Amino acid sequence: MTYHKRFLVWWGLSLFLCKLSSRRQLDYQLNTDGPEVLENLNHLAETAQDSRPVNQTLEYFLEGSGAAPIAGLRQRMVERLIRMKALDAARLLGRYVVLIDGSGYLVFNHRHCDDCLTQRHGETTLYMHQALEAKLLGPSGTVVSIATEFIDNSDAQSAPVGASQEEVKQDCELKALRRLLAKLRAEFPQLRICLCGDGLYACGAGFQVAKDYKCDYVYVFKPGRLPTLWEDFQGLLQLVPQQQVLWTTPQRLEQVHRWVNDLHYTDSAGRAWKVNALECTETDKEGNKTEWSWLTSLELNHETVVAIATRGGRQRWREENEGFNTQKNSGLNLEHAYSHTSWAAYYFLLQIAHLMLQLVEKGSLLRRLAQEQGKRTAVELFGSLKNIAQRLLESLRYWHWPDEVFDRVRVGAIQIRLDSS
Ligand SMILES: [Zn+2]
Repeated sequence: MTYHKRFLVWWGLSLFLCKLSSRRQLDYQLNTDGPEVLENLNHLAETAQDSRPVNQTLEYFLEGSGAAPIAGLRQRMVERLIRMKALDAARLLGRYVVLIDGSGYLVFNHRHCDDCLTQRHGETTLYMHQALEAKLLGPSGTVVSIATEFIDNSDAQSAPVGASQEEVKQDCELKALRRLLAKLRAEFPQLRICLCGDGLYACGAGFQVAKDYKCDYVYVFKPGRLPTLWEDFQGLLQLVPQQQVLWTTPQRLEQVHRWVNDLHYTDSAGRAWKVNALECTETDKEGNKTEWSWLTSLELNHETVVAIATRGGRQRWREENEGFNTQKNSGLNLEHAYSHTSWAAYYFLLQIAHLMLQLVEKGSLLRRLAQEQGKRTAVELFGSLKNIAQRLLESLRYWHWPDEVFDRVRVGAIQIRLDSS
């Protein structure tokens, strides 16, 4: 029995779209007691398979194909979204906001491959796989995986001698960021990008990598990371009291934005930099103050400062919340080892499925349905993201998807409209 690759890719995506949690569940949930599964998947894949594969078939297929074709599929989908301007409403001063963050996603208590990163915790050693993700920000908090770099053992081994665990982590992520941006630029040479990252990128290596790959940046600015620069910033702020914008958020929080352009900084490699810094102080109704600061290559002035803070800096947490946390906790099961050999291919399938699920969840079709029922969002209508996936599984199993929804001409006219309010 041979299976068309398009069918197998849809088979693999179904694992994540329906949040089946483990590869074995394919054999139980998409089996013959779901009378419409085969026909619906054939329709999606434009194939004519007369039986369904088992989960091991998917494993053999991905072992053979490797991760690259699945990553390529993600690239084409992101290109399409950019071309149709579905993500444009979230741009910052004309640039696409690309959130950068690293996360461990597979952890074992035994070494299972040569690439495992090791971490000592007292008596025990953990073996991990980590990924550095670049996620393109879209409207209503959509995050679209646009590039991935796996951080492995060789990154950690080439860290400076005597470095602390935290320094090794920073070194690994900065090296991985360089590889990640090289790939991203090869695939999207013209895209205007502003990188948003946490404080570990706010250093000479982080400024250099942005410059080399023609990106702007908004990095979290922490006093401890660059103490002299922080002192300069605080000192200069006192001299420019007019560089200030007061702003009230839609949630009625009072914000004060202050900034200084052209701070001078010489990094440990002797490179001279000119960077801009901004600070946002927010006061809530009880009078509690919270403060954030960022370093940026974008010019700060009365017109740009609020946009850079709210559409750039403040968005960084989305990578963690809507990116990694959703993928770990909403049933996508990022931390589950779907395979011990083809983990990267499954990683990309998961990213593609998460993209599709966000378009379903945040797109106008379900939003309209929710509003007709007096609810604001699809999640409010169905109760949770997991429930939406369950409905999708029920539909795949029991409902014959009608021909007209596959009509390319009709479907071609549909635009993806994400809520940008
Ligand atoms: Zn490993």
